[in-house]
Amino acid sequence: MIEFENVSKSYGAVRALEPMSLEFPEGETTVLIGPSGCGKSTILRLIVGLIRPDTGLIRVEREVLRPKNVVHLRRRMGYVIQEGGLFPHLTARENVVLMARRMGWNAQRIVNRVEELSDLVDIPLERLQSYPSQLSGGQRQRISLMRALMLDPDVLLLDEPLGALDPMIRAGLQDELKQIFATLGKTVVLVTHNIGEAAHFAERIVLLRSGRVVQEGTLHHLLHEPADPFVDEFVRAQRSPLDSLDRA
Ligand code: ADP
Repeated sequence: MIEFENVSKSYGAVRALEPMSLEFPEGETTVLIGPSGCGKSTILRLIVGLIRPDTGLIRVEREVLRPKNVVHLRRRMGYVIQEGGLFPHLTARENVVLMARRMGWNAQRIVNRVEELSDLVDIPLERLQSYPSQLSGGQRQRISLMRALMLDPDVLLLDEPLGALDPMIRAGLQDELKQIFATLGKTVVLVTHNIGEAAHFAERIVLLRSGRVVQEGTLHHLLHEPADPFVDEFVRAQRSPLDSLDRA
């Protein structure tokens, strides 16, 4: 469980988040959605402790996030940034095991965990010898997910994890990711700007605009009980052009 209590954040003169209180329930997937610049990535960066809130408190598993426990709490979180963020000079395997090595895991424990994860994300072990530039976009995302899951975190944070992929690969990986989330039962926070993807992953969608939560709820709520004209506008703007062709 992650809780925001009255959290706000500015970058200099830019107000990225207005004071907000939000909960990310344990073992559930919450999707953050909204137009570019509305504060989605800022929320993830605050949870993972890369930046500090100007006001308010963030609790991760009931512990208040503070400078002195941020490193400890961060180990309980896996973070997949946009485009994966793999180190290009390390092989896929080296990327995956980096933190476990630093934590002093023994070789056998590392081998076992890598095997388990390669099964989970469906990537053959031999592919792990490749460098990121030798992998496809979809494979890189699978490796990023392995890296995020290596230490078996309680919380998984994903920032547009499928944003850079072409539509066919994206659709396949969406299904697999959803299956993986269901298998793991972790607290997941996923950022997207695509309403179809949001509805695919989560019962609970949090729609943001200009650093404010406009509405929280299911896609059904957003469609049928929009809290604000912006909700309707946002959802309609994202409807597939094929929908209107279909109706024509
Ligand atoms: P999103 O992920 O929804 O696209 P962000 O959380 O990245 O939005 O950004 C929210 C706002 O904060 C935007 O106006 C963005 O330009 C601004 N912002 C984000 N990071 C920085 C930064 N490091 N310095 C200055 N402004 C930033």
